[in-house]
Formats: sequence, structure tokens, C-alpha cells
Amino acid sequence: MTVDELDVGSALESGEFFPHFQPVVNLRTGELQGFEILARWLHPQLGWIPPDEFIPLAEKNGWIDQLTGELLRQAFKTVAVVPGTPTLSVNISPVQLHNIALPGQIQSIAEPYGFSLDRLIIEITESAFADDVVLARSIAESFKALGCRLALDDFGTGYSSLTHLQSLPFDEIKVDRSFVSSMTSHRDSRKIVAAVVGLGQSLGLTTVAEGVETQEQAEMLRWLGCEFGQGWLYGRPVQASQLTFVAMKARQEEANLLYEAQGRISSSSLDNLPGQRLAQLQAVYDGAPVGLAFLDRNFRYMNLNRRLAKMNGYPIEQHLGRTVSEMIPELFPYVEPYIRRAMQGEAIRAVEATKPAVHGKEPLSILLSYEPARDEAGEVVGVSVAIVDVTEIKRAEKARQVCEENYRQMMELMPQIPWIIDPEGRALDVSQRWLELTGMTDDQWRGFGWLDALHPDDLQPTIDAMHRSFATGHSIDVIYRLRRSPRDAWKPMRSRGSARVGDDGKIVCWYGCLEAVDESA
Ligand code: C2E
Ligand code: CA
Ligand code: CA
Repeated sequence: MTVDELDVGSALESGEFFPHFQPVVNLRTGELQGFEILARWLHPQLGWIPPDEFIPLAEKNGWIDQLTGELLRQAFKTVAVVPGTPTLSVNISPVQLHNIALPGQIQSIAEPYGFSLDRLIIEITESAFADDVVLARSIAESFKALGCRLALDDFGTGYSSLTHLQSLPFDEIKVDRSFVSSMTSHRDSRKIVAAVVGLGQSLGLTTVAEGVETQEQAEMLRWLGCEFGQGWLYGRPVQASQLTFVAMKARQEEANLLYEAQGRISSSSLDNLPGQRLAQLQAVYDGAPVGLAFLDRNFRYMNLNRRLAKMNGYPIEQHLGRTVSEMIPELFPYVEPYIRRAMQGEAIRAVEATKPAVHGKEPLSILLSYEPARDEAGEVVGVSVAIVDVTEIKRAEKARQVCEENYRQMMELMPQIPWIIDPEGRALDVSQRWLELTGMTDDQWRGFGWLDALHPDDLQPTIDAMHRSFATGHSIDVIYRLRRSPRDAWKPMRSRGSARVGDDGKIVCWYGCLEAVDESA
């Protein structure tokens, strides 16, 4: 026996058709959204027959509306006892979009079970789309008037998916299983799914991914912003008797997931609409004290904040779609190699550059960072740019350098030899002339090294005198002898210094001066 010989009509009469239910879940929270109704024929001899084998027969022999009615009757009855208010999605054949009475028939089936039709989603597959678009449209509008939502099934598999999307008032797109199953291995499928999700978002449609079988697919779909999913990962189609169990399990998983999520994110932001979230991000983006931009692979500005636009000296709009070389030709030769490296996947952090003057403004000192931006599969799709204006910091640093240089010059010109020691007596700084006087090198005098230059007989008295001052805070005043080399005679020097006291009353360091003792006096 083959199914071709089977009589759908008598099977309907003897109650051999059953709905199976497949869960549809919120990909972000794991929450159960509803079920898709899938037709099954329990044949007395052949057992379960899949829909692909009998739906075409039912369509051909004119039984399809009764079949849908039968499935819905059972489904409405079943979900009435399932906790929560899950939606039901039902598949409608294109030929059924010729039956103007269909919406009314479904309404009368739902009524006795108290099933509100705003929980019903009508799935229309696009591979064999309605030929009479005017009629289909009026039927679709009746469904909408009853509160039903419309989903475009198997999106992407038909001849002109985009035309279909426009011809009926759809609320939902179902991304076909063929794209989902290959999206983790094929770049093209991934890009198609990304584009479909993006299309859904920009048209304000819900996107549901079909055939989600692995965590990896679910992760990628979430990353792409797809809201809902269904597939073996979340549950195979089950009979009515198992439905309550599936729903309970989904709720438990949802509770676990939400519990986890609460630690990370407040529930109010979970509820935020994508539009709101975008506005919040934009505010952060524009308010940042850093110039930010995103460049595509062709070095074009795809996005930038006000700060960066201001640094470049042109409004935001003038940047969009233009390249870096068009916008900052004077700096481009310098930054190009860095951007190229970032496009190859290298993160470039805080490179210093000077941005030449534009529009009569002063040149800017900037720190540039380039970070590769990757898509869901790790491929570099562009570069994010961060620019910090350090002109003021540089200016202050320069002023400090000049000041320090002046001080050095003065120190070297004085007849005395200035020195600085810490509260224990380690030398922190001495004039260059100490080197001339003692023959020491720069690294010899540091710390306690300077004591090595003293006449051995003067060493202990000097240390004692310093310790007395350290203990009392009184000025240091001591005489010791120095010489440049063993060939030279020792020269007596007088060293005097006073303490610098910090805010806490403790000595921070000692400043002092060394001068030759006038031996004639
Ligand atoms: P569909 O609407 O695209 O339904 C989804 C199909 O994918 C179902 O096959 C489902 O069992 C299967 N599926 C779900 N998750 C996964 C998964 O993770 N991996 C894989 N490999 N498959 C998954 P099913 O039940 O055999 O239905 C086949 C098609 O028959 C449906 O495709 C739908 O177009 C049609 N159909 C089913 N029930 C009805 C109905 O009541 N009326 C009409 N007109 N068509 C129906
Ligand atoms: Ca479907
Ligand atoms: Ca489908």
C-alpha cells in the first residue's frame, strides 16, 4: 500500500490525524513562547505518516481545510490545560488562501475552547505562494482583524521572498532550516541569516529561526539578534499527551536561565526595546571623552561619534561612507599601516601621533587605538577606532620639562653644589659638579654611594652629625674633605642642609648645599 491510494477523507472521519507540538522559545531567555502545530497521520497499518506525504494529497483532494480544522480543534483543547498562555502556530497551505470563509471557520473552532485568536499565528510557506494575491490579501486581512498574526514560513527558499514579504501584512519571518543548519560552517549561510534578522528588525518583524539543533547555532543566532528559535535543541514535536511535561520543563529551564541572568543584568534592561537600547548606546557613544568610529574593510566611516567628527573638523554626516584618506589626507599616510594591521586582526593600542592643523586650528597630539571588529564567526569585518586628544597633557608635560631644564641650568651655574637626600641619608640628586669634584660617575653617588667620596677620617663624624639632625630635625652642618683622585690633595667642604617637612609632619627629604671652606680664613 502507498499513501497515494490512501483516503484522507475517511481517515479524517475515523480520527486518524493528530497535531504534534514543537516548542518555540525565546533565544535570549529560554522562555517558552508557544508551539508550532505539525500534522501527523496515525495510520492503522502504516503507523505515523509524516506531513510531506499526505499534505499534498489533502490539498489535491480538497480535504485540507477540514484537516486544519481538525488539528486546531485538538490543539485548542490541548493548550487549554497547559500552564501559561503559549501561542500556537499553524501551517496553512497556499490553496487555503482561496477560501474566504477560512478565518471565520477557525474563529468558530476556537470559541468553544476560549482560545483567544491573538495567540494564533498563521504560517504561510513561501515556496508555493498564493497565485491570487488580491484574494490572499483579503483573507490575510480577515485573519489580522481577528487578532491572528501572520508568519512567512521557510523564508529565503522561494523565488521572490522579498516580494512576498510586501504582498501580505506579515508579522513574523521564519528563517528556513537550511540556512540555520549550515550557518556555523558556511559563511554565506551565516551572512544570509544575519541579513534576514536585520531585515526583520528594520521592518519591525519578529524573526524565528527554524531547525536549531546545536548550542553553537543558538549562540550565533542570539549574537545576530534573532529573537525566537525552534528545533531539536529545544524539543522535537511531541503528542498532546506530552505537552504539559514539555511546557513545565521549558518553564523550569527558563527560571534557571533568568536566575542566572539576573546577576548580570537588571530585569528592566532585559525588557528594553532594541530601539531604546540603541538610544542608550548612542548617548554613551556621543558622550565619551574619546573619538570613536567604526571603519569597514574599505576604510570607510560606517559610524562615528561627535567627538571624532569634531577632531576631524567635519560634521558626522560628511564622514559617513567616505574613506579615512578622504577625510584626513594629511594624517592618512601615517595611520594607514596601523589600520591595515588591525584589519589583519592585530590590536593596536595607544600609538602617539600629531594631527596637523586643519581649518586654522592648532595641531593636535593624539593617541590612536585600532581594534579589529569580528563577526559571529571571528572574521574581521572592520576596525573600531578610538582617539584620545592628549594635546593639553602634552602641553603641561612640555611646560614641566622646560621648568625642570631651567632648574638644572641654574643648579649647574651656582658656585655651591646643591644636593637632595632622603630621610635616611641616601642621595637623590646632586649637581653635576659633584662629579667634577669627586671623580665619581653618575651611578656611583646614588643612594649611600656618595659617602665613599669622603676622607675616611671624616666618614663617621659626618654620619653621626647627620643622624643627630635626622633625630631632631635641626639643620645639618658638617665639614668633610673630598678629592678628585688619589693624586690630588683633599679639599675641605662645608655641607649645610635643612629638612622639608610633609603635611603629616614627617621629614620628606633634606635639601642642602656644599661649598668650599675658605682655608685662608
Ligand atoms: P515546516 O512548517 O517548515 O515545519 C518544520 C519541520 O521541520 C517539521 O517537519 C519539523 O518536524 C522539522 N523540524 C523541526 N525542528 C527540526 C530540527 O531541529 N531539525 C530538523 N532536521 N528538522 C526539524 P514535519 O513535521 O515533517 O513537517 C514538514 C512540513 O510539512 C512542514 O514544514 C510544513 O510545511 C508541512 N506541514 C506540517 N503540518 C502541516 C499542516 O497542518 N498543514 C500544512 N499545510 N502543512 C503542514
Ligand atoms: Ca511551519
Ligand atoms: Ca518552515
